[in-house]
Amino acid sequence: MSNQKRRILTGDRPTGKMHLGHYVGSLSNRIRLQQEYECFFIIADLHTLTTRPDRESIGKIKDNVYEMMLDYLAVGIDPEVSTIFLQSSVPETFELNLFFEMLVTTARLERLPSLKDMANAANLDGMPFGLLGYPVLQAADILLPRAHLVPVGKDNEAHVEVTREIARRFNNLYGEVFPVPDVMIGDVPTLVGTDGQAKMSKSLNNAIFLSDDAATVEQKVRGMYTDPNRIRADIPGRVEGNPVFSYHDAFNPDVEEVDDLKSRYREGKVGDVEVKQKLARAINAFLDPIREKRAEYERDPERVEGYLRQGTERMRGEARKTMERVREAMGLYRL
Ligand code: ATP
Ligand code: MG
Repeated sequence: MSNQKRRILTGDRPTGKMHLGHYVGSLSNRIRLQQEYECFFIIADLHTLTTRPDRESIGKIKDNVYEMMLDYLAVGIDPEVSTIFLQSSVPETFELNLFFEMLVTTARLERLPSLKDMANAANLDGMPFGLLGYPVLQAADILLPRAHLVPVGKDNEAHVEVTREIARRFNNLYGEVFPVPDVMIGDVPTLVGTDGQAKMSKSLNNAIFLSDDAATVEQKVRGMYTDPNRIRADIPGRVEGNPVFSYHDAFNPDVEEVDDLKSRYREGKVGDVEVKQKLARAINAFLDPIREKRAEYERDPERVEGYLRQGTERMRGEARKTMERVREAMGLYRL
């Protein structure tokens, strides 16, 4: 057996604090796999430009990157083991992105519903060239460290498929340079929002953040959407598709308690208040150690920035190696 570890690349856009959806969709897999794989975690600041290229948004990136670093470190990503890096500080990303742009059609990208959704959500008049290229830039991110596995939430599955196609096309044209990476979806493929909307999302105001304090969690859980037909505690309720129970399943390790709540809910023998109180308690118990670690790192911003600097350096080394191979394979004339 080869002692060369297989590689992971995944990451997030620095558009705000991370929430429970990010955790179940991707972070939990990263933490679980970081010893087994050589991991590269990208803070994808260039991707934020696809919908928010204005100065004001750019001005927020630095603080968001710092918050994201704290979230990563707090959940247990180990910067001595894994490589955390800042996308825009790895210029090889831009190069590989351009080569990949030649290997995919606009029709292929236009078929992705996610891009239209993003354009709509950002109130854009038309589709920016760069937003259409969002999955191509992702392919450059994933293939720059020549990753084999991409742990992401369900919403990103179709994008990784584009990466796979680009990797195959490149290899067919120029020779085997890239692995064709597999996608790995989290235990909860898409965590619903506290408002019952399909996806917990920073922008939809329906998120519980990893950095929320206990009182905020209690308040958000109290306001959560449940079975709307259940106007009294003695009316039998629906458990399936009920966000409160989806969260219990995801964050309450006390399976007996959850099963008991579910059966009493179905029979109309438990009030929403009790179900929610127990959920808030479970989420807070889950978040407590994360809060503690976050507080520890918050005391030392220079150390936090140092990890990002060090990771970005390490990534640049890998990026140079890959681009050597890419140019060699393509047979580009060089001066
Ligand atoms: P948001 O939609 O909250 O603004 P985002 O889409 O900007 O978040 P990304 O940086 O695009 O966040 O995604 C980071 C990772 O988290 C991706 O792998 C994505 O699939 C995953 N993810 C985001 N939201 C959820 C969710 N509600 N459930 C599961 N996975 C999610
Ligand atoms: Mg997203």
